[in-house]
Amino acid sequence: MGQKVDILAVGVHPDDIELSCSGTLLKHIDQGYSAALCDLTQGELGTRGSAAIRLQEAERARNVFGIQHRSNLGLPDGFLQEDKSSLLKLIEIIRRHRPEIVLANAVRDRHPDHGRSATFIQRACFLAGLIKIETRYRDSLQDAWRPKAVYHYIQDYFIEPDFVVDITDFIDRKLETIQAYSSQFFDPNSTEPETPISTKAFLDGLIGRARQYGRLINTQYGEGFTVNRPVGVQDLLVLD
Ligand SMILES: [Zn+2]
Repeated sequence: MGQKVDILAVGVHPDDIELSCSGTLLKHIDQGYSAALCDLTQGELGTRGSAAIRLQEAERARNVFGIQHRSNLGLPDGFLQEDKSSLLKLIEIIRRHRPEIVLANAVRDRHPDHGRSATFIQRACFLAGLIKIETRYRDSLQDAWRPKAVYHYIQDYFIEPDFVVDITDFIDRKLETIQAYSSQFFDPNSTEPETPISTKAFLDGLIGRARQYGRLINTQYGEGFTVNRPVGVQDLLVLD
């Protein structure tokens, strides 16, 4: 059957989740919700590091989250195709974890894989609910499952968020999940080529972004999300 979780976070590259929504995940895990992570590719085209190093780093980040499940679908970095066999791989993961909520890549971004992945994940979430699509996990036929909602995190490009999660108490641990990827981000001792994300300015910008989103909801740090359909509300008074 696989383990049911409340939240499944999906990213096309290992580190997308950490950069964009790790504060939100840490906050919900701290509140007792369960979570699993899924990376679509190994990020093998990244200028720095290698697929093997990035897998180790993803594992290190998983430990910071303190969760059990992180899978990697091994789809081709840079050439993600919205084809049947690729979608079935993600459908299998969605049905294995039966999440209520899926967190997905930004709808548009500097890296073209991010926007493509946003559509890919949305489509897999819809298709996972169709009973005539058959998938198996460990030889057993899986039940259909459609998550209640897909929320898109925001990564490099600024996007006006539809809602913001207060991550003030989790900013330090968010940075810890990012620093697990020591091959990718600022390391004064690295001899690898500099990239737009390996500078100190990049990390400073990330913190500034969290402050900017926090400002919108009157807290110190926040992470913004966009929605595909309006969020349903039962009780106006639980909203901040
Ligand atoms: Zn990425």
